[in-house]
Amino acid sequence: MKPITMFGPDFPFAYDEFLAHPAGIGVAPESMHGTEIAIIGAGIAGIVAAYELMKLGLKPVIFESDRIGGRLRSEPFKDGAGAFAELGAMRFPPSSTSLFHYFKQMGIQTRPFPNPLTEAAGSTVIELNGKRHYVAQKSDLPAMFQQVEQAWQSALDEGADFTALVEAIRQRDVGAIKLIWNNLVRNYDEESFYGFIANAGSFQKLGFRGREVFGQVGFGTGGWDTDFPNSILEILRVVATGADDDHQLVIGGVEQLPRRLWAHAPEDIIYWPRGTSLASLHGGVPRPAVTRIAQADENRIAITDRFDNVKNFAAAIVTCQVWLLSARIDCSEALFDHDLWMAMERSHYMQSSKTFVMVDRPFWRDRTEHGEHVMSMTLTDRLTRGTYLIDNGPDKPGVLCLSYTWNDDALKWLALPMDERVRLMLHSLRQIYPNLDIAPHMIGSPITVSWESDPNFMGAFKANLPGHYRYQRRLFSHFVQHDLPAHQRGIFLAGDDISWTAGWAEGAVTTALNAVAGTLRHLGGHSAPDNPDPIDLWPALMPVELPD
Ligand SMILES: Cc1cc2nc3c(=O)[nH]c(=O)nc-3n(C[C@H](O)[C@H](O)[C@H](O)COP(=O)(O)OP(=O)(O)OC[C@H]3O[C@@H](n4cnc5c(N)ncnc54)[C@H](O)[C@@H]3O)c2cc1C
Repeated sequence: MKPITMFGPDFPFAYDEFLAHPAGIGVAPESMHGTEIAIIGAGIAGIVAAYELMKLGLKPVIFESDRIGGRLRSEPFKDGAGAFAELGAMRFPPSSTSLFHYFKQMGIQTRPFPNPLTEAAGSTVIELNGKRHYVAQKSDLPAMFQQVEQAWQSALDEGADFTALVEAIRQRDVGAIKLIWNNLVRNYDEESFYGFIANAGSFQKLGFRGREVFGQVGFGTGGWDTDFPNSILEILRVVATGADDDHQLVIGGVEQLPRRLWAHAPEDIIYWPRGTSLASLHGGVPRPAVTRIAQADENRIAITDRFDNVKNFAAAIVTCQVWLLSARIDCSEALFDHDLWMAMERSHYMQSSKTFVMVDRPFWRDRTEHGEHVMSMTLTDRLTRGTYLIDNGPDKPGVLCLSYTWNDDALKWLALPMDERVRLMLHSLRQIYPNLDIAPHMIGSPITVSWESDPNFMGAFKANLPGHYRYQRRLFSHFVQHDLPAHQRGIFLAGDDISWTAGWAEGAVTTALNAVAGTLRHLGGHSAPDNPDPIDLWPALMPVELPD
């Protein structure tokens, strides 16, 4: 059976096949070889765009305000014998086929992520309303939880033609995807996730309690009630493309991907001498933060860095989260049309906080007198919400993600310093595991993050609210520039907030490829022979337009 992949549904372009094509992903005119292209941000979108442009003979110039990797950040514990905390992305669905293309190219290995109710977790504890359920396998789930899962499947099938949609995505049947998905967009753009389940007959039968339990356990990764205000279309995208399934953890940390791409000297490079890498083109370090973006003469883009150096570029790819274009960077208003600014300003970012501690060993594998694990992957309605246990081997320090939260749950941590966070988290866990003392296992210093308090991000990742489809379409479509006035061409937006799947690194990679296609066109280049790019296929595949 063909696998489910993140193929559409909004723009069903086969990025994985495009990347694997032997002719390459595009052609830059020879006269343009060596031309400098500004890339703002060295997250995975910026690094992928830069890497591909370099391979095509152009000269990417990467500016970064913080550090290579962006929200792919694997923070090592000090003296932690290789233990690290995945502060941003930490679990990757194999349906992210473009991301996995680069994992493979860079020799990055994965293993199953210990999500709730998975074999990798070993066991799961769900604690809701003060009641604790120990689940060694899915069939141990109490009846109410099983009913909720069935209600969700029924709601998807009755309300969203789900089985047919998933099959169309699996078969890459563009006609069928368009038929089903465009209809869902028209029907549900204004519906929230909560509204969708509250109106579903299958959930109405279970009463409010059913929605409460669902918000706790959800599907796949659990803890979905903080997503309840978001557009149901966001959730349908996730579940229909397998984004929440079969998650993998990157052995050694996902930050290796952008770092290896940065250091790698590709064989199939043109114009540049063998051995050229992004690192060698930059003398080992990206350029500093960008403070200003403006139009220069002859439709070039003028970039000013934090030390007031100004340089003009033939094109620029902006990969930082779009709020930063008004909040942190002095970006000339004339570069984008007002509708696009509106879409940027209306972007809705999720907050997210994570706190990790290193422990002496994976002590949670020990058994109680009843044969249960002394501690399990834990979902709770208490402050911690999700606790994940990362086992690095029996004799190595393990890593406890004491708490991973979103939105309101993340805001509860925002004002608190690290030690207070850890103290409260241990307190919550003690209510769930009264016979377990976690603290004696803790070694080294905890690591914590609140993405919304970091001025280089201002939020964790985007999630559209009801009514935001048109805004997302404006952002995503911007790389197709032939109808734009000349003074607005040559600047491209990329990154997961430009994609239809914000919060997934796949969206960062695929929008980077769109920006590469746009940049090539802008310089007079084109797609590679027999390998149509996203601009060639735009008229056939473009996301459905809703009337204004
Ligand atoms: C808490 C959390 C959990 C996540 N979980 C997952 C997951 O499990 N699976 C998954 O696939 N994805 C996950 N994601 C999403 C994933 O991390 C992102 O999709 C991806 O890392 C985004 O890459 P990007 O290049 O688009 O943006 P970024 O990584 O944000 O890169 C943009 C870069 O721009 C830089 N920048 C900002 N301002 C400037 C400036 N003025 N000048 C120069 N540079 C600037 C920033 O420092 C940053 O490095 C998660 C993200 C977070 C935050």
